[in-house]
Amino acid sequence: MADMFKNYINGIWKESASGETFERRNPANGELVATYTKGTAADVNEAVDAANTAFKSWRLYPAPKRGEVLFKAARLLEDRKEDLAREMTEEMGKVLDETRGDVQEAIDMTYYMAGEGRRMFGDTVQSEMKNKFQMSVRKPLGVVGLITPWNFPMAIPSWKMMPALIAGNTVVIKPASFVPRSTIRLVEILEEAGIPAGVVNIVLGTGGEVGDALMQHPDVPVISFTGSTETGKTISLAAAAHNKRLTLEMGGKNAVIVNDDANLDLAAESILWGAFGTTGQRCTATSRVIVHKSVQQELVNRLVKGAQSLKIGNGLEAGIQVGPQVSEGQRATTVKYVEIGKREGAELVIGGNIATGDGLDNGWFHEPTIFNNVSRDMRIAQEEIFGPVVSLIPFEDLDDAFSIVNGVQYGLSAAIFTQNVNNAFRAMQDIYTGILYINAGTTGAEIHLPFGGTKATGNGHREAGTAALDFYTEWQAIYVDYSGKLQRAQIDPVN
Ligand code: NAD
Repeated sequence: MADMFKNYINGIWKESASGETFERRNPANGELVATYTKGTAADVNEAVDAANTAFKSWRLYPAPKRGEVLFKAARLLEDRKEDLAREMTEEMGKVLDETRGDVQEAIDMTYYMAGEGRRMFGDTVQSEMKNKFQMSVRKPLGVVGLITPWNFPMAIPSWKMMPALIAGNTVVIKPASFVPRSTIRLVEILEEAGIPAGVVNIVLGTGGEVGDALMQHPDVPVISFTGSTETGKTISLAAAAHNKRLTLEMGGKNAVIVNDDANLDLAAESILWGAFGTTGQRCTATSRVIVHKSVQQELVNRLVKGAQSLKIGNGLEAGIQVGPQVSEGQRATTVKYVEIGKREGAELVIGGNIATGDGLDNGWFHEPTIFNNVSRDMRIAQEEIFGPVVSLIPFEDLDDAFSIVNGVQYGLSAAIFTQNVNNAFRAMQDIYTGILYINAGTTGAEIHLPFGGTKATGNGHREAGTAALDFYTEWQAIYVDYSGKLQRAQIDPVN
């Protein structure tokens, strides 16, 4: 019998009044992983009420003390890292090394934000007038609604939850329905670490019902969303209608430039990892390789050799490098784009098929796939695929390469491989993405720098680092006049 998981509302694990459930099966073999209560708008209302009540005291609980709860949670995450990673692979599909990395990101973020509890800096500045003191302080916003995707089941919830909590907000989170268990574990750990009832709540269920109920609720002034650009647009409209503060982290079409002066071995290794790690299902996955014509064939040879040697299978088994896709639908999208690429006249150099045999038939596996001689306007060079497919686009002039990188609707991550420092600085100047790597692939962000993208990838906010605190707090400017008389700013002279 698989475990049955419930909502967590006001410090109590409880089933939805709907009485309905949904299940999740292992994408590598179809085995039942867990059953979940299926939440409704009524559960969201109850969770928001609890979070609203808890906000009254949590906002006044000193930030260093909130930090102590987070420190304890971080230590518990560390102690349980291996079990949490195994569970995540079973539910989401990515290989064990990567789910360990996912949990590690949550550990890092939790420690980092715990430390922020003792900083939370504002400014103290001199007044234009005598006997007047002034400063700025961060204030929490209230109940924060968090809506998360399935590809980083613990890291992304932690990026949102920890800065929200350390700043004094309370939280209602709705995880993606493919992977609720990792987020539930995070909430269990916060509970064990001593988070008061109502401060963190989780409601499981569909985006259309539970997610939308969060969007519509008048007592949720803030929403943080990570997911597809399509859903993000719907969310954006709902947020505007209710005047909610909103952060959106959405799709990507990330590119690596391989210049003629690149270390080709390093570039090839990084591209294989960026394109086929997490089976291509990272928002920062390498989806385009913009390669100088003079090294194109050599790079293709290396990539094909590397892709051939990748071991596909159940991510819990030793030596496996490419797991299944998260679902049948996600794999169908990959299949669809492979067909589109072929029809558009791109040259398929390896892969292109559903992966079968050898224990793969009951999972959502797809071969690592490389298209060569892709042109910049083809759909496979423009649209997010979110599967193990990468397209090589040749160039001759570096300025042209920059314009190809920038010539998509997204702007999350990009990279350049070059041994020439001038070219590296030109890339820093001319590439317009939220994240840029020099001589490293498009994935691998660390939690203490701002994370997010330009253009259709986001809406101008950033997660992680202290940038996250800017989203989860409001500035209050405080002026204290102790002169005992009316001092009119900009009007009265100093005397
Ligand atoms: P998705 O948009 O399908 O779902 C994301 C979340 O939104 C889920 O929890 C879903 O249930 C919820 N949702 C769906 N419809 C909703 C609605 N109408 N109202 C409220 N909530 C709703 O995305 P996904 O398939 O889970 O994730 C993959 C996508 O996420 C990719 O496009 C990827 O690029 C993106 N992503 C972006 C980043 C980033 O930081 N930029 C990181 C990871 C993933």
